[in-house]
Amino acid sequence: MRSAILADIHANLEALTAVLGDIEQKGGVDEYWCLGDIVGYGPEPHACIELLRRYNHVAVAGNHDRGAIGKLGMNQFNPHAQIALAWTAEHLTEEDSGYLGSLPLTLDIDEFLLAHGSPADPLLEYVTSTGIATRNFAFLRSPFCLVGHSHVPAVFMEESGTAAARSFSPGVGLVLGKSRMVINPGSVGQPRDGDPQAAYAIYDSESGVIRLYRVPYDIEATYQRIMQTGLPLHLAIRLKEGR
Ligand code: ZN
Repeated sequence: MRSAILADIHANLEALTAVLGDIEQKGGVDEYWCLGDIVGYGPEPHACIELLRRYNHVAVAGNHDRGAIGKLGMNQFNPHAQIALAWTAEHLTEEDSGYLGSLPLTLDIDEFLLAHGSPADPLLEYVTSTGIATRNFAFLRSPFCLVGHSHVPAVFMEESGTAAARSFSPGVGLVLGKSRMVINPGSVGQPRDGDPQAAYAIYDSESGVIRLYRVPYDIEATYQRIMQTGLPLHLAIRLKEGR
């Protein structure tokens, strides 16, 4: 079975459409696993939810998904995110809000635990260092954990009880073995690793390999859309910079 792993779409319809097209070009997948933050920051929250829901998918809640429906305090967000969440809340249908509210904090699928932030704190913690990853291994119920939230592709592998950072780049398959791992596929709709292209991953259960992909998309179209909506300019500029 093949599963696409998508994180941090952030209401970027151009990026999501490009990623879904890329997956089709690669022969498609059986399932889509979404790691949260479908909305927030971007200009197309309703369209992204609607498009994702057409696919055979499972999803966990991200902090922005909860923030947009009033289930996470605004004091947990930076000023730009707060403005975008207030705008997002006004552009969701009742059905969209119901869908976002139905998303669980974590999901167990096969050998994976899915969480937006971290196993210990699924909404808010960023797994961005070996120290944080090491502490989180204690919270794993499965050998492998898929997270988003940082918008930066990353792999932390357990070695003799502590986590070690492993490279995770396009073209090099990540082979799942005996060591436990925390894996971040990067962000579809707001990459922050310096590469503005959309990021996602595909897991093939037959080979036990996860591959990272980067996909160009029409950043200018999303940029212009953000400008039209009146969302903060910073949110448009950062898409071009991939930061
Ligand atoms: Zn996010």
